[in-house]
Amino acid sequence: MSVYCNISSTHCYIVILMSFILLVMANTAEVMAKKTSYNNEKIIILDPGHGGHDKGVQSMNGTYEKTLSLKLANIIAKKLKDKYRVFLTRTDDYWLDIPSRIDAANHLKANLFISIHFGGSFLHKTSGICIYYYKEISRSANILENETLKTIKSNNIQTQWHKIQNRHKTTSHILAESVKNRINEHIEFTKCKVQGAPVIVLSGADMPAVIIEAGYISNPTDENKLKDTKFLSDFAKSISKGIEDFFKTHKN
Ligand SMILES: [Zn+2]
Repeated sequence: MSVYCNISSTHCYIVILMSFILLVMANTAEVMAKKTSYNNEKIIILDPGHGGHDKGVQSMNGTYEKTLSLKLANIIAKKLKDKYRVFLTRTDDYWLDIPSRIDAANHLKANLFISIHFGGSFLHKTSGICIYYYKEISRSANILENETLKTIKSNNIQTQWHKIQNRHKTTSHILAESVKNRINEHIEFTKCKVQGAPVIVLSGADMPAVIIEAGYISNPTDENKLKDTKFLSDFAKSISKGIEDFFKTHKN
């Protein structure tokens, strides 16, 4: 799949999307054969940030954001899979562009889209968890991860979902608060906060959607915690409980 990605063409995009849909169909068939006892048929898309040549943030000790985001997404998926249909946008170390991640979620009519990232700073003391929901602000404001915008333009891919997230911004905000409350309840970390921002990866999601920036791996103390299996498992548990809380209050 990564070979196709390097072509950076519409063909690449279609191949990735079709591969993802076929993977989902195969998984769905397998799941349906195993059991039909889901509480509901809600679909959750977990999106581990970056991948392949796009390593994301790198710590002084060589921890890559792309690796940690996939690890955390896998643990969250395990904690949710008995109650929901959970799919990852990428399941290994390969690159996906933003439209591929979003379009797959939209075509599946997913109920939630959650992108997993980590922060980095030249100031090693910088710490904290932040959950972002989509919110348009003035043009002079900073745009988070604006490299993703450049990626979309350079691939010349027209996204039909541009800014469709606006109609979900209230529920996305509620989702962010639900997850934040559970994280702050159980995790010994700098307090998690919620913030609205014009995040490109969320703008095309036609469902409640957030980015969890799950700590700064440039902070050695936080990095050590995030590399601890027990801590990461507890962190994933809090996030999954926040998602369950959201579904309890938002049935549709
Ligand atoms: Zn990132």
